[in-house]
Amino acid sequence: MQNKEKKKIGLTTLIFIALIAGAILGVVLHYGIVENTKLLSVVNKSAKYDKGNDHVLRMIYKFFNDFVINGVFLVVGQGFIRGMKMLVVPLVFTSLVCGASSMGDTKTLGKVGVKTMGFYIMTTMMAVAVALTTASIINPGKNLNMSAIKADATVKTAKGGVNVAETLLNIIPENPVSALANGEMLQIIFFALLIGIILAKLSDKVQIVTNFFTQFNDIMMELTMMVMAVAPVGVFCLISKTFSQLGFSAMLPMVKYMAAVFIALGIQCLGVYQGLLFVFTRLNPFKFIKKFFPVQAFAFSTATSNATIPLNIDTLEEKMGVSRKISSFTIPLGATINMDGTSIMQGVAVIFVAQAYHVNLTLVDLITVIFTATLASVGTAGIPSVGLVTLTMVFNSVGLPVEGIALIMGIDRILDMTRTAVNITGDAVCTTIVAKQCGELNQEVFNQME
Ligand code: ASP
Repeated sequence: MQNKEKKKIGLTTLIFIALIAGAILGVVLHYGIVENTKLLSVVNKSAKYDKGNDHVLRMIYKFFNDFVINGVFLVVGQGFIRGMKMLVVPLVFTSLVCGASSMGDTKTLGKVGVKTMGFYIMTTMMAVAVALTTASIINPGKNLNMSAIKADATVKTAKGGVNVAETLLNIIPENPVSALANGEMLQIIFFALLIGIILAKLSDKVQIVTNFFTQFNDIMMELTMMVMAVAPVGVFCLISKTFSQLGFSAMLPMVKYMAAVFIALGIQCLGVYQGLLFVFTRLNPFKFIKKFFPVQAFAFSTATSNATIPLNIDTLEEKMGVSRKISSFTIPLGATINMDGTSIMQGVAVIFVAQAYHVNLTLVDLITVIFTATLASVGTAGIPSVGLVTLTMVFNSVGLPVEGIALIMGIDRILDMTRTAVNITGDAVCTTIVAKQCGELNQEVFNQME
């Protein structure tokens, strides 16, 4: 037991060290290699002859660019993400079937479902309100004239809106096998829940199938642990690569836009969530944040809520004492429909673009944004950059020019990483509250020191 505990501390610390070390190396690489490579190629274009030194430098730059940044870091980082993604569909499916079947009767499942949905919708609406308020104070788009910015083709062709009827109908899979093959999370959740409920209903008659799912679930958990063992290396490579490509030359309005998003995300994560956690459960919010940090670090480095599902469920069970019966249902659901961080970015973006285009938003407009951003959060898939696509739907709802998204796109990656960390924190907080209310939280585990 003691040994196991030691190993856990090691992994958490290692992920944290990897995050910091990766960021430092990335910044060094950006200014030492990436920027200098650009400079050297500019100088060489105008130079009449090649100096001996340049040749050596070029070889060094080439080595770092091709072999380190776009070689080792890319392959190891992406390989790690693929490893986590590989787990998602089978893990979510089996753990949901097991979760639903062990919850026994549909009444409990219904109770958990209604409570969870209630918290998910409430926190998303609060998130948009926080975003709109923060952005209105910081005024990121003032003094900016965006009329000159050209529209980006990818944004223009993005689907302009989400039809409510279609979104609802899309939950029911026409073909469950293709839903599984294509990773359609809502459809998978729907189908898995039905299978789980029926397994519980037929009980002894389907014992073999129930056992199969339980054992398959154990196998997936073991596989998760194996992939997680390489998390520090994966996180290090991902962060180094991202930071090696980031410069600090963003214009002031964009810096203000980013600051507004960061501040609103901070308020949501440290204020709103921790306040709700304390009010509804009386648990220590500081302890929660400390124990939850590795999951946030993982979400940050991958910018993918979906890939974070296994680690989130594991952490909630082992460190917070949340029963898997609850989390195996609420976490995949949350990673699919509850994107508070994403809706915060969308709220700030609305104010930013409205100011830049001198569009006056009325109170009705702002309320419309709260509703459409909440709906957009449901429609945003838990993978990188999708929040930008669903942002078009929010812009359309209040008549803002979609072209405005073009400016935000260039700096979205770092925001995507941060908002993903908030997205999954929201899922975990709501899950902990629901678990506590349903008597499925082991407070002794939560209170244990790390
Ligand atoms: N990357 C986000 C997530 O996975 C979605 C988004 O905002 O683009 O939660």
